[in-house]
Amino acid sequence: MQPLTEKTIRSSFVNASRQEAKKLTLPENFDSLDWDSLEYLGWRDPKMMQRGYLFHTDDSGRTRGILLRPTDGGRKPTNAAMCEMCRDVNIPCAVGMWTTKRAGQAGRDGDTLGTLICLNFECSRNVRIPPPKNPIYPDPMVVVAQRIELLDERVQSFLSRL
Ligand SMILES: [Zn+2]
Repeated sequence: MQPLTEKTIRSSFVNASRQEAKKLTLPENFDSLDWDSLEYLGWRDPKMMQRGYLFHTDDSGRTRGILLRPTDGGRKPTNAAMCEMCRDVNIPCAVGMWTTKRAGQAGRDGDTLGTLICLNFECSRNVRIPPPKNPIYPDPMVVVAQRIELLDERVQSFLSRL
């Protein structure tokens, strides 16, 4: 994805108050992020672990960000669950249930949406792990390219459902 500035991040929320956007703490590695290997930027607030953020830029260049909360406080990772974004079947990391407010009035009225996402937003890393070669998929990098594409589409469609 295209690198985001702090200003874009704080002003692109679709479901956070101005106050919440102001209180956000950037990821610790923000200055050294490898944006080329990210389909979305996701992280847990280093100062408020009960908050996660996800930012995505769609094909038209519009960036949207959401504030998420782990439903179980993130303490009990659901290891058997599959992340709705990367859908990695050999998931190398913990997946948790996150809830996020709907955009606009629905969200202000308390309407939320829940989804399973890798607890530390490792989706982009997961989809880049090449699968073992097999007769159906002789080229693992073709599979990786497809997964990257699908991850991008799923994030975009999830944001549109808000
Ligand atoms: Zn994932």
